Amino acid sequence: MTDDDTQTFDSTVYYDDDADEEAIAHKTVAVLGYGSQGHAHAQNLADSGVDVIVGLREGSSSRAAAESDGLRVETPADAAAEADIVSVLVPDTVQPDVYENAVEPNLEAGDTLQFAHGFNIHYNQIQPPENVDVTMVAPKSPGHLVRRNYENDQGTPGLLAVYQDATGHAHDEGLAYAAAIGCTRAGVVETSFREETETDLFGEQAVLCGGVTSLVKQGYETLVDAGYSPEMAYFECLNELKLIVDLMYEGGLGEMWDSVSDTAEYGGLTQGDVVVDEHARENMEEVLEKVQNGQFAREWIAENQAGRPSYTQLRTAEKNHEIEAVGEELRGLFSWEESAEDDEEESAEVTA
Ligand code: NAD
Ligand code: MG
Repeated sequence: MTDDDTQTFDSTVYYDDDADEEAIAHKTVAVLGYGSQGHAHAQNLADSGVDVIVGLREGSSSRAAAESDGLRVETPADAAAEADIVSVLVPDTVQPDVYENAVEPNLEAGDTLQFAHGFNIHYNQIQPPENVDVTMVAPKSPGHLVRRNYENDQGTPGLLAVYQDATGHAHDEGLAYAAAIGCTRAGVVETSFREETETDLFGEQAVLCGGVTSLVKQGYETLVDAGYSPEMAYFECLNELKLIVDLMYEGGLGEMWDSVSDTAEYGGLTQGDVVVDEHARENMEEVLEKVQNGQFAREWIAENQAGRPSYTQLRTAEKNHEIEAVGEELRGLFSWEESAEDDEEESAEVTA
């Protein structure tokens, strides 16, 4: 009943009409965690008429926020005990611990374990009993947008996966959960835990978070090492990236190419593959292999168990890169910075 061997090439997309909210209407959902995703799922579910309990530790600073949003708060263990559906929305690195201590002892046959990312299930850090459903509803967006879109009668695209279907109703219930948080308004793509986890990790490592920051830093360093001013290097290699990405987001690569000059288009088309070449492609394949064979997951789990020594060092080095100081100074000199900071979207985390 696991879907590990399934690869979804021709994706099914679900909308409001495909979901039957009855499948969740009389259930109690424990939302564990009140961070980016947790606060949005909890409030949207409650506004959709679902009985919600937020599960937070006794001393958690999020307790006051959840209570003032009108939600009932219990400890994670009590919330899990009362609930039919346990939505695990604490950080991925603490999920195994929360599962072992608060969730597992309180699971009953026919309950549902619900996730927003597949890491811990896919890499066996959480091994649920066979008599519960295991589903994933993963909005492809940071939580504050999941909440804001819902309030504005808009939707947030999302993913749905069923890892284990003990009741025979896992899929219907997952889809109803997706509808209740507003995802079917926009469209929900069917996937598997394996596909979601592996594409998510690959994307953030090779392209989104890792690839793009390396490209920016190396471009910046190339210009500065050649004697150009750090200010010019910053604008060319970092600041303008947003304009390019916005165009691609709106209308694909084509809209971007149409919007830049012919000189930029010709130079980009001839030189892009010179920079990100066959070798970079081979490196990407290596990155993907480490995701697929679990090497990355083992490394990250061990890093956390050791107290994050390399992670801390890498974070510090990144903060100390010259481009950060130059950027901070420059952003302070220009008025667009203020409006950018006011817009929550600017500080939004990529779904990581
Ligand atoms: P987060 O870091 O924003 O919030 C986690 C919350 O968990 C905290 O606010 C706190 O209330 C609670 N918490 C923290 N440590 C805890 C502990 N030790 N014990 C109990 N509770 C604790 O997390 P998030 O980004 O919302 O991620 C939750 C899940 O959603 C993850 O599986 C993540 O991969 C997934 N996801 C996140 C995003 C995103 O944009 N942030 C998008 C899609 C999926
Ligand atoms: Mg992600």
